[in-house]
Amino acid sequence: MNPEEIMLKYEQYINPSSTRLFRFMGLSSVEARAEGWTITDTEGKEFIDCLGGFGMFAVGHKHPKVVEAVERELHNMPMCGKVLFNEPAALLAEKLAEITPGDLQYNFFCNSGTEAVEGCLKVARLATGRKRFVAAHNAFHGKTFGSLTATGRDMYRDPFKPLLDGFVHVPYNDVAALEAAVDKDTAAVILEPVQGEGGINVPADGYMKQAEIIAHKHGALLIADEVQTGIGRTGTWFGVDYDGAKPDLMAVAKALGGGIMPIGSVIGTEAAWKGLIEAPFLHTSTFGGGQMACAAGLATLQVIEEENLLQRSAETGAYFKKGIDAIAKEFPQVIKEVRGRGMMIGMDLAKEGAGGMLMALMIDQHIIVAYTLNNPKVIRIEPPLIMPISVVDHVLEVLQSCIKQVADAIDDL
Ligand code: PLP
Repeated sequence: MNPEEIMLKYEQYINPSSTRLFRFMGLSSVEARAEGWTITDTEGKEFIDCLGGFGMFAVGHKHPKVVEAVERELHNMPMCGKVLFNEPAALLAEKLAEITPGDLQYNFFCNSGTEAVEGCLKVARLATGRKRFVAAHNAFHGKTFGSLTATGRDMYRDPFKPLLDGFVHVPYNDVAALEAAVDKDTAAVILEPVQGEGGINVPADGYMKQAEIIAHKHGALLIADEVQTGIGRTGTWFGVDYDGAKPDLMAVAKALGGGIMPIGSVIGTEAAWKGLIEAPFLHTSTFGGGQMACAAGLATLQVIEEENLLQRSAETGAYFKKGIDAIAKEFPQVIKEVRGRGMMIGMDLAKEGAGGMLMALMIDQHIIVAYTLNNPKVIRIEPPLIMPISVVDHVLEVLQSCIKQVADAIDDL
């Protein structure tokens, strides 16, 4: 089938307006295959992936060790029967307990980021017997009802009201606001260690640690939403490692599946897990904890260790950011600010129209970037952590020439 026919089916059977929007931004290719940091379309055109599936492709596309692990399970027992035990789930749960901070120990496997967040919210209510949650403006926690209630953008929330009761939102990176909002009825504070979809917002050093201290002072839990920051994205295993915060509950997904399998996990301390230990079937999932997904997770964590990807994320990310900082200095009329940690970088542009134009120009040059969901003025760079410096140099060169074109057009945007 040719690309036109495929896009027509998208228009007819998936969504006409999103299809037209993507086409308008120059996205008219159909993916055929991918490897490492390269996506090839059905006509043989190669794109450098600087978006990484919104953070899903930490170990790149189709990493051979993840493929091998998944294939092995595919031919043994791909999905768990739900009654007998399975080895990949046991091994992945043990490994996650080892690499997560503090006393995080127990895992509940699910299939996506929003499910992992839903699980955290339910477990927090169960553990504390409280109903209030404190979240941040501009937060993105997913789009099912609980996580949508925690999400801090009205545009996504308003059409679905009434949402859950008991959620308050405070400005991100504002310790005093957090202090004022948390009280004896608060079940948990839920935060991203770096806000992803909110616009790659990096908090001041120590913010997550302060959040932990404030939550605990009031007998509340700290939920770290590591769906985007986790698994090496910010240069450490988890975003909270940056300032040594120890959450009671953590939501992990995206990169955990090695870009091959969907998987998420709710990870909690023994104290947080109390209610689920008493009544384990209060929260269940048919697909969660399948052998192929857990084997993918385990292989992904092994690849990160073997290929030293935490250090590479920190170093390549710093190199990337330095290069973008230099471009921002040259074109301050286009790039207001560059923010980021590790391989999670955002360019805050002077005008919203500049984001769409830059994205289209970069894609025209075969480099995939996109803006953040809550803030279309921010173009995010979240490549596979394995991207070599030579490719980063090429991306920077193309970026500089595209930003120059945006600068020439900025008054008309
Ligand atoms: N939490 C964070 C921090 C995210 O960035 C996302 C998705 O971008 C989610 C939750 C929701 O994940 P999913 O799209 O897998 O439901």
